[in-house]
Amino acid sequence: MSAHPWYRDGLRFACTRCGNCCTGEPGTVRVTDVEIATLAVYLGIDLADCHERYTRLLDDGALSLVEKPNHECIFWSRAHGCTVYPVRPRQCRTWPFWRASLASPAHWAAAALNCPGMGRGPLHDAASIEARAADDGTSGAVPELGVD
Ligand code: SF4
Ligand code: SF4
Repeated sequence: MSAHPWYRDGLRFACTRCGNCCTGEPGTVRVTDVEIATLAVYLGIDLADCHERYTRLLDDGALSLVEKPNHECIFWSRAHGCTVYPVRPRQCRTWPFWRASLASPAHWAAAALNCPGMGRGPLHDAASIEARAADDGTSGAVPELGVD
């Protein structure tokens, strides 16, 4: 990453627990083998069952959590929020400090349209942001932004 990123003065973020990132449009929540094994232990089920019930294979060979028919994450509960919060995948832990969100101020602003926690709350310094982004659990793909 750049020695002088555009967010060198830090970025504010405090999750409001609105649930937008766990619901809404179809998406992927990438999970590693270790994360699946950790989920299985947390849920008290065996590993094969956890794979079968909660994961799907992506085109690039990685695994994602599955979604409900309405595109909510399989572990999202309207009443309780994330039901696997202590063992949620890295991708969930590192949001919004993903490489995709940090690619430019415009990418950050676009991501913030769906995440009311971005731009509020405590200031996260550039070093901690970069540490999270470097291992954000995502594919690292940066979306093209639409041009009006
Ligand atoms: S969209 Fe943002 S504010 Fe809402 S739950 Fe997700 S991280 Fe928190
Ligand atoms: S695992 Fe939890 S935090 Fe991650 S998308 Fe699903 S409900 Fe949200």
